[in-house]
Amino acid sequence: MNKLSAILRAHIEKTGPMPVADYMCLALQHPEYGYYRQGDPLGQGGDFITAPEISQMFGEMIGLWCADIWRQMGSPEQFVLLEMGPGRGTLMQDALRAIAKISGFHQALQLYFLESSETLREMQKEKLAAYNPQYIDTFSAANASLPPFPTIIIANEFFDALPIRQFEKSFQGWCERLVTIEKDAFVFTLSKPDDALLLLIPEAMRDANPGTVFELSPASINLTRDLAKHIAQNGGAALIVDYGCAAPDGKPTLQAVADHRYANVLGNPGEADLTALVDFGMLQRAAVTEGTGTYGPVGQGEFLKALGIDLRADQLKLRATAQQASAIDSALRRLTHPAQMGVLFKALAITTSDITECAGF
Ligand code: SAH
Repeated sequence: MNKLSAILRAHIEKTGPMPVADYMCLALQHPEYGYYRQGDPLGQGGDFITAPEISQMFGEMIGLWCADIWRQMGSPEQFVLLEMGPGRGTLMQDALRAIAKISGFHQALQLYFLESSETLREMQKEKLAAYNPQYIDTFSAANASLPPFPTIIIANEFFDALPIRQFEKSFQGWCERLVTIEKDAFVFTLSKPDDALLLLIPEAMRDANPGTVFELSPASINLTRDLAKHIAQNGGAALIVDYGCAAPDGKPTLQAVADHRYANVLGNPGEADLTALVDFGMLQRAAVTEGTGTYGPVGQGEFLKALGIDLRADQLKLRATAQQASAIDSALRRLTHPAQMGVLFKALAITTSDITECAGF
């Protein structure tokens, strides 16, 4: 048992089985032993690879998206660009380089990051030193740490790591999935059936067969509402890109990945990334409650192609060796092909209502 397991075990022994969301929260964000509090999880030598680490073209397209939004906002002389979970800072570096020639954008920009990992913060500060990024520790609509300027928010593969609750239909009714300990190992168990849970289950799923699982991420809903509220108050837009679904289909999606392989979700807490499919339909409804508009979700392939990624690939290939050209083609395919990241990954934009055309959608 690792150190975090011992802490979780003591917690369960004292207060009983814990909701999946609590387990996920501690496994990922325990201040000392949480997965996102140690080391660098990204890249070949890490646990997983993300779109910006596959190709510079991804960040470049996001840069174009930001520039388009900024122009539609009337090119404000001061605005905040906030990235949530910037990883190694690669996306932002590629984005800002791609639009360096857009007159006024860089002068108007104040760069902010939300990041829990100290190691990644150091990498981001180094990579984006020219833009002097500021950090916020949490995001809430009442967040006084962001200046009251129009705000463009980017979150790539951030929401999938926010805690989810899992509900399961048993033969007796809807129950919550909990984590408990049995013979030194963490295992799933179910709460007693509880009719009050029915209110949390989408109507279409309430009478589903036993074994059906519904995942709900209150943290994602609250964060989306806060982002939307901030945008409604200050102007701007948010772009959420992640792997996800338009609506859940009754199957559990919580997964663990370590060293580029699937791992046991309850195996070694703090040593594997835990993620779940993002419920984009839910995020969209959450944003609308705050009076903002939304675009999408659309597949990442469709989104990147609408922003011109094919042209960009052609342009890069003009100056490439044969080997580089084939790497560009395979990155393009990986990012956009329906059988790769093109459909499973999706983009959703949240905007103020005066943004009438949203690039990429
Ligand atoms: N966007 C980057 C990294 C994705 S990994 C990319 O696409 O490459 C998830 C990122 O979110 C990491 O930077 C991680 O440290 C950060 N993160 C995850 N949960 C977080 C939380 N609750 N608060 C702040 N940062 C978080």
